[in-house]
Amino acid sequence: MENFKSGFIILITGSMFSGKTEELMRTLRRFEIAKKKVVLFKPEIDKRYDDQKVVSHNGDAIAAIVKKDSADIAKYLEDNDYDSVDIIGVDEAQFFDVPELTRLAKIWANDGKKVIIAALDQTFEAVPFPGLPELLAEAEVVKKLHAICMNCGGLASRTHRLSDAKGTVEVGGADKYQALCRHCFLEANKDR
Ligand SMILES: [Zn+2]
Repeated sequence: MENFKSGFIILITGSMFSGKTEELMRTLRRFEIAKKKVVLFKPEIDKRYDDQKVVSHNGDAIAAIVKKDSADIAKYLEDNDYDSVDIIGVDEAQFFDVPELTRLAKIWANDGKKVIIAALDQTFEAVPFPGLPELLAEAEVVKKLHAICMNCGGLASRTHRLSDAKGTVEVGGADKYQALCRHCFLEANKDR
């Protein structure tokens, strides 16, 4: 494949419970099967389930390197034979500094790397994570996934926080968040 020489960015995005991590792993595994060198990163802040592996909500796992921020990812790659890496995967990228990650992803893709990033697109207030729109614009491929509304069974695009805790980052799963459709999200937030 001639154009396999070219790098690209794939962004896998959507609400919580939409299967982003599963899709990221499915994609990365295809490259592993093709004997490409895959390196996967996840943020230190995401302490759910396991410190060494990316684990999706269905329990499927793939080894990952835990890093604090995007600069740490760049440093790791520099120190660990960057030239030999074919695929750079990043899970839960909304917990990294997305503007800096986007700048780096562009450099990696320009260098011929395949960059595959999974990230929530919206905060629990249904606004884009800072930097996400720019990353979306930079990506060659955007896969927008949906969850099923946990209230009505419709198409869910929103992540609803069950608690009234403040701040964008509050790590949690089904104990703290629900996937809701547009309608149910509006209903759930009308008194807030
Ligand atoms: Zn609904």
